[in-house]
Amino acid sequence: MKIYNTLSKKKEEFVPIEEGKVRMYVCGPTVYNLIHIGNARPMIVFDTFRRYLEYKGYEVNYVSNFTDVDDKIIKKAIEENTTAEEISQRYIKECKKDMQGMNIKPATTHPLATKEIEGMIDMIKKLVDNGYAYDTDGTVYFRTRKFKDYGKLSKKNVDDLEAGHRDIKVAGEESKEDPLDFVLWKPKKEGEPSWSSPWSDGRPGWHIECSVMSKKYLGDEIDIHAGGEDLIFPHHENEIAQSEAANGCQFAKYWMHNAFLNIDNKKMSKSLGNFFTVRDIAEKYDLQVLRFFMLSAHYRSPLNFSDQLMESAKSGLERIVTAGEKLRDVMKNGKDGAMTEAERKLAEDAQEYIKKFEDAMDDDCNTANAISAVFEFVKFANSNVKETASKTFAEELYKIMAQLCDILGIILEKKDVNVGDEAYIEEMIAKRAQAKKDKDFALADSIRDELAQKGIVLKDTREGTKWSRA
Ligand code: AMP
Ligand code: ZN
Repeated sequence: MKIYNTLSKKKEEFVPIEEGKVRMYVCGPTVYNLIHIGNARPMIVFDTFRRYLEYKGYEVNYVSNFTDVDDKIIKKAIEENTTAEEISQRYIKECKKDMQGMNIKPATTHPLATKEIEGMIDMIKKLVDNGYAYDTDGTVYFRTRKFKDYGKLSKKNVDDLEAGHRDIKVAGEESKEDPLDFVLWKPKKEGEPSWSSPWSDGRPGWHIECSVMSKKYLGDEIDIHAGGEDLIFPHHENEIAQSEAANGCQFAKYWMHNAFLNIDNKKMSKSLGNFFTVRDIAEKYDLQVLRFFMLSAHYRSPLNFSDQLMESAKSGLERIVTAGEKLRDVMKNGKDGAMTEAERKLAEDAQEYIKKFEDAMDDDCNTANAISAVFEFVKFANSNVKETASKTFAEELYKIMAQLCDILGIILEKKDVNVGDEAYIEEMIAKRAQAKKDKDFALADSIRDELAQKGIVLKDTREGTKWSRA
């Protein structure tokens, strides 16, 4: 399997650090509002890549953070006369609802920056001790020029960057040794959330958050670090500098970046009025359509969002779902007994579509070509599975189809669950998790019992609590 590595600017064979295991980190959203459809792109494409890695037998430790302390969150809290925590908790909850709608698997861990401050202080201390960082009046900066590999991801040259920075004086940053240095820790301003540290009461810079959460949940060296292409510089470049300077080893082996989602060929922006949240789209479409639309392009190609393209995604998805229904119908009403010789031969031929699908996914996660393979398979199934076919044959083809759709995160058979119920159950699960965290086990148990009475069974797994109907 090959993936395009931003670090080498080449497609490279994927070889994990530890055989059979993948450690993957995807930069998550800053939670001050409902997520927009641009934010949904990395969520969907990297979730699909994770599903494919799992299909290939890898055990994937998938970590994706929520940035829950940030200027925008604080601004919103001031506007609403509430706390930054209330704002971030509210939008994490909403984001998880959208993720569920888009059938994005919960990460192995979804760390919150505000819960990892201790680790950040430790890493900054280390950087100060080994000369890669310095404190001036409570602000700690990273000494960029000291990190010799700075620019290796974004292919930027330090001297060119310096020239660009020379005339820019940022208020409050006069004490920097070099304009290229970036903030690791900053003192609080009046009314801001803060934590005590050896340098000042304050909060971490954005870049150090990801370096630390990645280290804590995945270790010093990871296989894949991913996010949107706008994060290459400075965010990911700075993460590399911090992590490699602190840990003394390579941070991430492969860097994957998705291209942007535009609307009507323009950059999505609130001021242009061409800005959609995932929730806006959910009013008009099943979010499966949004997912399918996102996967219809290769993740490194810019993708244009338009009504027309959404309509075409909708009808494409319907074609697949209808073929699935037809197969299920034959599985129920077709002939009993073994496949005929001709059917056996066709079932063998069907393997070719799996191969096509895998070849596409092995080629830098080319979901566009993988979807073409699914369409070819749909055509094959539609023309070869008649009402008079055997149940076993229909079953054989359905298994293939369900498997390929599952990798893409497309649900072939929607169970009759009431959306309202789902949101309620998720809310109860979140409440129970919080109760357990607070060591309020009586409350946690009573929530489990209450759901059990309604016929909902909870199962605690490594990826979190799963539910099913009894
Ligand atoms: P943010 O909350 O702005 O840090 O963004 C969260 C993730 O969404 C990052 O990986 C961004 O690169 C990505 N992202 C933001 N806007 C877009 C867009 N229009 N298209 C694709 N990805 C985006
Ligand atoms: Zn990040």
